[in-house]
Amino acid sequence: MATLDVNTIIARSLKAQGIEYVFGIIGIPVIELSMAMQAAGLKYIGMRNEQAACYAAQAVGYLTGKPGVCLCVSGPGLLHVTGGMANAQMNCWPLVVIAGATSEDHEGIGGFQEYLQVEASRPYCKYAVRPPNASLIPLHIEKAVRYATYGRPGVSYLDFPANLLQASAPESKINFELTHPPPPLTYPDPECVREAFKLLTHAQRPLIIIGKGAAYAHSENILRHMIENTNLPFLATPMGKGVVSDKAKQCVASARTAALQKADVILLLGARLNWILHFGRAPRFSADVKIIQVDLCPEELHNSVRSAVAVQADINPFVEHLFEQLNAVNFNFSDNSDWWKLLKEQCYKNKTTIRSMAMTTSPPLNYYTVFHHVQEIIPDDAIIVSEGANTMDIGRSMLLNTLPRHRLDAGTFGTMGVGPGFAIAAALVCRDRYPGKRVICVEGDSAFGFSGMELETMVRYKLPITILIVNNSGIYGGFEKDTFDAIRSDGDLTQVTPPSALTVETRYERMMEMFGMKGYFAREIPQLQDALKEALTLKDRPVIINVAINPSADRKPQAFNWLTESKL
Ligand code: ADP
Ligand code: MG
Repeated sequence: MATLDVNTIIARSLKAQGIEYVFGIIGIPVIELSMAMQAAGLKYIGMRNEQAACYAAQAVGYLTGKPGVCLCVSGPGLLHVTGGMANAQMNCWPLVVIAGATSEDHEGIGGFQEYLQVEASRPYCKYAVRPPNASLIPLHIEKAVRYATYGRPGVSYLDFPANLLQASAPESKINFELTHPPPPLTYPDPECVREAFKLLTHAQRPLIIIGKGAAYAHSENILRHMIENTNLPFLATPMGKGVVSDKAKQCVASARTAALQKADVILLLGARLNWILHFGRAPRFSADVKIIQVDLCPEELHNSVRSAVAVQADINPFVEHLFEQLNAVNFNFSDNSDWWKLLKEQCYKNKTTIRSMAMTTSPPLNYYTVFHHVQEIIPDDAIIVSEGANTMDIGRSMLLNTLPRHRLDAGTFGTMGVGPGFAIAAALVCRDRYPGKRVICVEGDSAFGFSGMELETMVRYKLPITILIVNNSGIYGGFEKDTFDAIRSDGDLTQVTPPSALTVETRYERMMEMFGMKGYFAREIPQLQDALKEALTLKDRPVIINVAINPSADRKPQAFNWLTESKL
C-alpha cells in the first residue's frame, strides 16, 4: 500500500490551495517539512528572525491576495511569530502560520520547547487548530486558507506536533482535491446605494476616503473611473495611497486637515475610523458629518461614530452601482464650487510651506529636503516600504504612489520592524510578476535596528532592494556627537544616556561590506543623489544608503497633536 509522509502531505496540500511562498526559520521538528515544501514546488525563503518571516508572509498575502505561509519551530519560534500574527490580523491581511510542536508523548512533562501553541495563537487568529491526524491535514489546510481569505481577511494557525510530522498515511486516504473558489463578492443593498447617491449629490463638501481595504479589494479601476468622472475630492489612508494616483487632480492629500474637518458627507471605502482617521470625531471631523461607510465586515459598521448610511458590501460592486447612478445624471462636482476653491487654496498653501522647507540643502539635512530629492529620482511605479516615526510620517506625504498596493508601512498596529520583511516579500513578488519594478525601503535608523539582519536574507536571495536609512541618531531624535559625548562623559551610562539616543551617525551602510559589497553614506544632497541613482541600477543585490540628517530635525508645526488631541 502506497503511503505518504506527513511533511509531503502538508506541502502538497499547501500547493493545492495555490500557496506560492513560504517564509521561515527551520529547526527541529520542521527541517524535513521545509525540504518537502521545496520538493512540492513551493518557494521557500529562509529568514533570520521569525517575526520578520511572518511580516514577509503577510505582505505576500496583501500584495497577491493569496496568503503567504510562515513556518517556524515550536515554543519560542512560534512566540516570536505572534508579533507578526497580531500585525497581520490588525491589518486584515491573509496569512497562514505553521509551527512544529513538541511531541505529544512529551506534553505536560516539560517537552523540548513545549508551549500552549494553539491557545497562544488564538487571540491573533480567525482559525487556530492542531489537525488531529494525517488524513485530515488537507481539510484543515483548505480551511485555514479559506478562513484567511474569506470575509475580512486574517490569520490562520496550524500546529503540528513532532510525532504527527513523523507519521504517514495511506495515499488513498489523502484528498488533495478539496479546494474553494475565490472569496464570494457581497453585493450592496440597493436601498443603501440610493441613500448614498442622495447624500453625495446633495453634499456641499463631499469627500471620498480610500483605505487599504480598497487596495486589497483591487478597486483601482472603478475608483479611478468614478473619481475622474465625478471630480469628487479624495484622500487616501497611508496604505490606501495609490489606489487612485497621488498625482490625480482630485487628490487633496495636501489639504488633509481641512478636508477632514470641513467635509459634510464622507464616502468611506475600506478604512476603519480608528486612530489613523482620528476616530471620525470632532475636532478633526465636523460633528455632524454624514458618513457613508462601506465595509465587508458588518461588525465594523457604525464603529466609533454612527454612519448615516452603513453598507455591508464589497467595495467594487458598491462603487459600480453608485457610479452607474451618478453617471446617469452626469454628476460632476464643479471645480468652481466653494469647496473645491477652498481645497485647492489649502493644497497650494501647504505645498508652498513644504517646498520652502525642502529647499534648505546645506547640511545637516532635514527630512523634507531628503524626501524632496528622493522623490525626484525614484521611479513613479516603485513599491515604497516605510517605517519609523518622522521618517514614515513625512515620507508618506512626500513620496508619492501612483499605483495601488505600492506602499507598505507600520500599518494599523504601528509596528516597527516590519520594513525589511515587507521589502523582501515585495521584491520577490516583483521578481516573479513585475520584473524591473523597484522596491525602496525607507527606514528610520531606529526602525532599521529591529530587523536589520534581514539584509543577509536579501543578499542570499539576490533581491535588489534599496534601503534608505534616514539617520537622525535616535528614536524620534538623537544628539550631535559633542552633546552626546558631553552628557555621557560622567556618571553611570544607564542613568545618563537619554532613552531616545542611539550611537551618533552609526555607519549602517558598512553592513554591506560584510558581503564584500558597497554601501553609501550621504550627508549632502549630491551624495544622496549619486548614491540613489547608482543604487537603482543594481539588479541582483540590496544596497544601503545611509543619510545622516540633523538629529533634531522635526516635522513642520502640526495643527493637532494626534495622540493627545481629543478627550473622547
Ligand atoms: P486603513 O488602515 O487604510 O484605514 P483599515 O485596515 O483600517 O484601512 O480598514 C480596512 C477595512 O477594509 C477593514 O475594515 C476591512 O474589513 C475592509 N475591507 C477589506 N476588504 C474589503 C472589501 N473587498 N470590500 C469592502 N471592505 C473591505
Ligand atoms: Mg531615528
